[in-house]
Amino acid sequence: MQQTPSVGRVVHYVSHGTPTRPDGTQAYTQQCRAAIVTEVDPADATRIGVAVLNPSGQFFHPLAAGGCVLDEAPAGARDGGSWHWPERV
Ligand SMILES: [Zn+2]
Repeated sequence: MQQTPSVGRVVHYVSHGTPTRPDGTQAYTQQCRAAIVTEVDPADATRIGVAVLNPSGQFFHPLAAGGCVLDEAPAGARDGGSWHWPERV
């Protein structure tokens, strides 16, 4: 079922991992972070603005700065900076 995001819903924001080292490891890998929808692009509901809640800080990613694009790929294959609906556990 395809849901449409709306202001105030909680989604996951995919953090950017740090660059991959020559040996293939990363200091920080991508993580799902809690994010609240602050805006929805009226022309494309898959592009949203979010307020991201990291464990020790928060930041805002508004549509005016490009917003976040839906990426429904499996964990590990998603683009950093994208959003998706929280996984069912
Ligand atoms: Zn997630």
